[in-house]
Amino acid sequence: DLRVTDVTKAFGEVPVLRGVSLMVGAGGTLALLGPSGCGKTTLLRIVAGLEDPDGGTVAAGDRVLVGPGDRIPPERRRVGMVFQDWALFPHLTVADNVAYGLRRLGKEKIGTRVRDALEMVGLSALADRAPGTLSGGQQQRIALARAIAPQPSVLLLDEPFSNLDAALRVRVRTEVHQLLADLGITTVVVTHDQEEAFVLAENVAVIRDGQIVQQGPPTTIYARPADRWVAEFVGDAN
Ligand code: ATP
Repeated sequence: DLRVTDVTKAFGEVPVLRGVSLMVGAGGTLALLGPSGCGKTTLLRIVAGLEDPDGGTVAAGDRVLVGPGDRIPPERRRVGMVFQDWALFPHLTVADNVAYGLRRLGKEKIGTRVRDALEMVGLSALADRAPGTLSGGQQQRIALARAIAPQPSVLLLDEPFSNLDAALRVRVRTEVHQLLADLGITTVVVTHDQEEAFVLAENVAVIRDGQIVQQGPPTTIYARPADRWVAEFVGDAN
């Protein structure tokens, strides 16, 4: 599981996260839903170790990833992240992109992991291509393959479909939903798209101005929004 407890973060004088707590059950998927600039990416970066919180604790299973007096470096957190722009390396082949997080393993093991990850996302045939020669949907899946190849215990997806056109988005998110179910990795997916959150995750946390205003199953958030702001934000989807 993943447990975020009372995490705070400010950039200079500006508070971005103001005591965020949330829980994702082992193997579950949580969608973090909120408007632009409310601190979603910052929270993911803190979980991944790309940024340190000012206060609070992040724990996965029996390990404290970061907290008062504790800090596991990013490369040892077993946290995989797919960035908003996918951040593929254009000068490396698809296979080498997927192998990127596996450098510490032996050559044979790297080969197996890369093959398995590409098979998972259904793109084994493209191993030797350059990312620039692939479609947006394919690049998105390569980024996902790169994130899952090291077998992380937590997967973070930051607006994973934002670079795709509307029709492709709908198709790819269904595929990713299935893949997440198959993988059974504890996952947080950030989105500002209500429909996407509700398709992908069994639990949704609504964040506003650096605070979680409601967390629960999509149906509950629809039927019993915590306040008028949530009702209007969630209602926008229809
Ligand atoms: P979006 O959906 O637009 O990506 P978000 O919810 O992911 O938004 P964040 O990227 O976490 O929001 O940013 C939250 C706030 O923190 C923004 O006002 C942003 O300008 C600010 N911020 C983020 N990173 C930094 C930084 N390194 N230095 C200063 N301010 C930052």
